[in-house]
Amino acid sequence: MNKKHVLIRNFFISLALFMVFFLTTTFFFSTSSRSDRNESMMLADNIVVRLDDGNEDIDTIISAVKDSNFMHITVYDIGISTPTHDTHTDVFVPDPKFNEEKRGVAKLQHDDSLKSNAFVVYRECKKRTLVVRVAKSVSTGYRVAKNLTIYGNITAFILCVVAYIGFYFQFKRSLLPLKQQVLKLQAITQTNPSGEYKDDVAYLAYILRDSRHKLVRQLEETRISNQKLDFILDSFSQGLVVLDGNYKVVMINEAALSIFGFEREDIQGRHFDTLPISQTITSNFSVVIQTNKGMDFIEKIDGRYYQCVINPIHYQWAKSVVKEDKSGASLLMVDITEDYNSSEMKKQFFANASHELKSPLTTTIGYLQLIENGTINDETEINSAIEKCVANSHRMNKIISDMLTLSSLERESLRPVEEVDVCSVINTVVDSLRFQANEKEVSITQDGTSFVTKINLEDFERLIKNIVENAIKYNKEKGSITITSSSEDRTIVVKDTGIGIASENQSRVFERFFRVDKARSRKNGGTGLGLAIVKHICNYYDLKLELESELDVGTTFRIKFPE
Ligand code: ADP
Repeated sequence: MNKKHVLIRNFFISLALFMVFFLTTTFFFSTSSRSDRNESMMLADNIVVRLDDGNEDIDTIISAVKDSNFMHITVYDIGISTPTHDTHTDVFVPDPKFNEEKRGVAKLQHDDSLKSNAFVVYRECKKRTLVVRVAKSVSTGYRVAKNLTIYGNITAFILCVVAYIGFYFQFKRSLLPLKQQVLKLQAITQTNPSGEYKDDVAYLAYILRDSRHKLVRQLEETRISNQKLDFILDSFSQGLVVLDGNYKVVMINEAALSIFGFEREDIQGRHFDTLPISQTITSNFSVVIQTNKGMDFIEKIDGRYYQCVINPIHYQWAKSVVKEDKSGASLLMVDITEDYNSSEMKKQFFANASHELKSPLTTTIGYLQLIENGTINDETEINSAIEKCVANSHRMNKIISDMLTLSSLERESLRPVEEVDVCSVINTVVDSLRFQANEKEVSITQDGTSFVTKINLEDFERLIKNIVENAIKYNKEKGSITITSSSEDRTIVVKDTGIGIASENQSRVFERFFRVDKARSRKNGGTGLGLAIVKHICNYYDLKLELESELDVGTTFRIKFPE
């Protein structure tokens, strides 16, 4: 419905109300006028009947029916204008047309004798030459009905017109605030109605309708954008947390949730400092929000290391609603566990290597100085000192050569591979270690079926040699070693009957320079790098390495090759 429709409808409502009033008063007026008129005619007829009867005196008849205050009754002889009988003799003006109206209905006229309007009727006797004139004053009901009809209708009409005009302006004014709001909405949604909307209400309705369509479209676009943003944020392997100036969580991605071990519902909209999160992170967040300066640090969570970067966010949406100057802040968490561990390992390796090399070197230098300054001059002592210097040099050489092997394994990303028959390589390695085994009276048995694998021959020899050499070194006198290969499982199992490794040391034996018994290892010519090299080779070629050991019973190494 537009403005024109509303105005037309209200016009017709006003008109209908007026018409109802008009018809009611008119009906009331005509009813009371008919009743007055009929009364005066009936009276006149009654008098004529009684006059025609001729039994009564005319004055008696008149006095029997008259009420002098409201009635003026006159009796004429036909053709004589002067009345023969009259209730009001003082003033009488005969009706010049009374002859024509002898049978007509009562007419409203002014009656001078009654000094008011009256219904005047003329009746002619049938048996006598008499004419009766009856004038009956209009009744109070008639007067009221007449006044109501005239003045009441004029007043009702004026009221209707005034009410309609008032409604028109009220309607216009009531549209104003709505119009202002709709125009603001129009500015936001940039709706441009075509020229055909001249009517206010239709114009507003158009803008509202169009704005609604645009808003629905924009909401849908926003929803899709949010989904895209969530997808991007959740695809990050880095954790992201955004807080506003009130420390409330505004945004958090899946990676951050899994780092902290939270469910999204638990965290959304909560104060960050009420969550079970490391003190360092919460206090650093606090510092960034207070100072507006970013910072970064390393944090350890559940055994993993994260490079954390906290930066202030100056956007309005991130600011505190209480304190406008408080910006929000974002925390980016990058998992650097591997880099961190590797750098720690390098530092440790460097320290260990220096230490390992320092002792034989110090010993060698000491002996050489003793020879140089002549402290040792006996030939036997000099030979013994030289022997120790050579042994220490061999030891240093072995450490350096193992370090170089490790370093080359770490450096070379693509090592040349070839098809290797595992049993023939094991044979060669065992042969090269036979002398060492015989010295300790350790028997080596080879068993099982061979298979071919693609591997760098040197790496494979080193792998088998380090394991078998350890099985000899840490075996008991007259112990045994069994090497079993299986083409079915593609496994090689090296089992010894040696001293075994305590369970708390089993995971550590692969660390660089770790030795369960340093003195024993050194005595055996060990460097503490053999199993680190084994582990590195297995990782490089994707071989599965398992260790089982029991103290004083023996140790088993199982290597599984991929298909
Ligand atoms: P090392 O040069 O000292 O042998 P490795 O890295 O080869 O260094 O081995 C690390 C440590 O693991 C050894 O010092 C030793 O204590 C233990 N170990 C290795 N192999 C065996 C084995 N077969 N039996 C018992 N202990 C072993």
